[in-house]
Amino acid sequence: MSEPNGTGDGTDAHDANTARDIPDADDTSDADDTPDAIDATAETAYPDDSQTEANARSTPRSLPLRVDGLVKRFGGITAVDGASFEVEEGSLTGLIGPNGAGKSTTFNCITGVHQPTGGHVYFRNEEITGMEPYQIARKGLVRTFQIARELEEMTVLENLMLAPKGQRGESAIQSVTPGLRGAVIEEEEAIRERAWETLEFFEIDHVATEYAGNLSGGQRKLLEMARALMTDPEVVLLDEPLAGVNPTLEEKLLERIHQLREEGYTFLLVEHDMDVIMNNCEHVIVMHQGSVLAEGDPEDVRRNERVIDAYLGEDV
Ligand code: ADP
Ligand code: MG
Repeated sequence: MSEPNGTGDGTDAHDANTARDIPDADDTSDADDTPDAIDATAETAYPDDSQTEANARSTPRSLPLRVDGLVKRFGGITAVDGASFEVEEGSLTGLIGPNGAGKSTTFNCITGVHQPTGGHVYFRNEEITGMEPYQIARKGLVRTFQIARELEEMTVLENLMLAPKGQRGESAIQSVTPGLRGAVIEEEEAIRERAWETLEFFEIDHVATEYAGNLSGGQRKLLEMARALMTDPEVVLLDEPLAGVNPTLEEKLLERIHQLREEGYTFLLVEHDMDVIMNNCEHVIVMHQGSVLAEGDPEDVRRNERVIDAYLGEDV
């Protein structure tokens, strides 16, 4: 597979600070900074010597997300049937498969929305199987959610301000304890600032005071992504983020995903449009009937006979 940026020696080589900052939408200089930083790290880790260079190439990259033998049954239906795969640090990995293959259920099991029937999920080598969604989000692993009915009745800005993990204001005891109230206000200000930055990044700041329920389909998708990013994640699972999005917004969303990826975020993307997967992902995992049928780089996967058979009758 092609080499994604961001991990140099397979540890957290990327700068944790830049990884956590939402990049400036108009700032193209970041694209130049990141590879330099990684090169420098790689040189330190592997001095100029052909043997060590060979070792460097064979050194496994960090795998923030690992799914091992995942099973999910709903009554008599086996939605996920022993799925195993890994997601590389800093990658934009595609997860594809025909309708009903178990992709969404897999996402839900990974992020704690569903309790898996069997198997294991590891995030940064810690088993997170069966943890609550908020616990998993706090660790830095999130999926996007459709804007729920109650959030439609709040403004776009409020939607973002409600999203962050670990707010002090969440704890009633802390917010009424004298001396801590100042910290709560300070934290709220920081969240507000980050919310505005995130809105600007996704170019939806002009609808900040609009009710979320009044947004267009495409703007909703941008808001869903923005909410997920407010939780300060490291790995983001996107389930058909481009469904119903017009071509202009689609391009903008993909551009943002690539920009964030260069900053150190890792993405696992479910997308029905094969061209989007082929043009944007460096690694593709194919699910069929609840398990992984094939994986590899996009071209290999596209030519794979088993994959072609699995998609037979579908418009690929
Ligand atoms: P995909 O996202 O790949 O299209 P899903 O994960 O949504 O597939 O669904 C996989 C299978 O599990 C399908 O047969 C679907 O009908 C079934 N399924 C998904 N969610 C539920 C549920 N909550 N209850 C019962 N069956 C479900
Ligand atoms: Mg689905």
